[in-house]
Amino acid sequence: MKDLTNEIIELIRRTSSNLPKDVEDRLRAAVEKEAPGSAARGALETIMKNIELSRKNSTPICQDTGTPIFRVHYPEGWSARKLREQIRGAMAEATKKNFMRPNAVDAVYDKNTGNNLGGDDFPSIHFEEVDADQPLTIELMLKGGGCENVGRQYSLPHNELGAGRDLAGVRKVALDAVQKAQGQGCAPGILGISIGGDRGTSYIKSKEVLYDKIGTRNADPELAKLEERLTEESNQLGIGPMGFGGQTTVIDTKITGLSRLPASYFVSVSYMCWAYRRRKMVVRGEEVEYD
Ligand code: SF4
Repeated sequence: MKDLTNEIIELIRRTSSNLPKDVEDRLRAAVEKEAPGSAARGALETIMKNIELSRKNSTPICQDTGTPIFRVHYPEGWSARKLREQIRGAMAEATKKNFMRPNAVDAVYDKNTGNNLGGDDFPSIHFEEVDADQPLTIELMLKGGGCENVGRQYSLPHNELGAGRDLAGVRKVALDAVQKAQGQGCAPGILGISIGGDRGTSYIKSKEVLYDKIGTRNADPELAKLEERLTEESNQLGIGPMGFGGQTTVIDTKITGLSRLPASYFVSVSYMCWAYRRRKMVVRGEEVEYD
């Protein structure tokens, strides 16, 4: 099995310093929606300058390089254990090269490990086996702490919000999460929402949908409609970029539906900040492609 440590370091560099084009395009379009001279437009213009400079200098887009979350689709016959070792080696090396800030802090002893390696949980790595003739795909998302702090999970029915166990209830709690995030979490944001599951799977799936490109709609027309509606209605709340007021609070919403127990109805909202760092590498034989 090929050693991909250097290629994974390059994946980390690209993810940390170069926002995907679909995100950048959506943020650029948002600048034009804000009034000339407004604080909202100023904040977005600063964000755009920051994005360009980071790409040019290969420096992190934000000082918080976030929780690294890998999703690995590995062909049958590859070793997940060896891939984990390579990913961890690449993360330590990328931290030395300053593509990542040392972010792994032992929560019990309050000690930063200095190399972005904690126990098996940091970086977070999720493996899925695919057929032997499929390429190896490694996706990486860097999820900032500020936006992670404003993620929320609701157990429906939620009497205070008048939210029942249906899509109307999901809409109410999702808008509540956006409202409560205002001024924190570095808007404009992207909402990843999962409906159902247990508490753990619900949060995991609400993040997994964030690997999809901006504008990807759920195949279920009802959920696709709700995705569009939530983006539109979030933008009517007037929270705006970095909470300065304005038209752009959320640039996209992605929803996934899961199975649930008859007794439970969880809705998890993962909030991703404008620094929506998400990249992938695809390995076919000797060839490595980055997206
Ligand atoms: S929430 Fe995002 S943009 Fe804000 S500080 Fe954290 S990583 Fe940076």
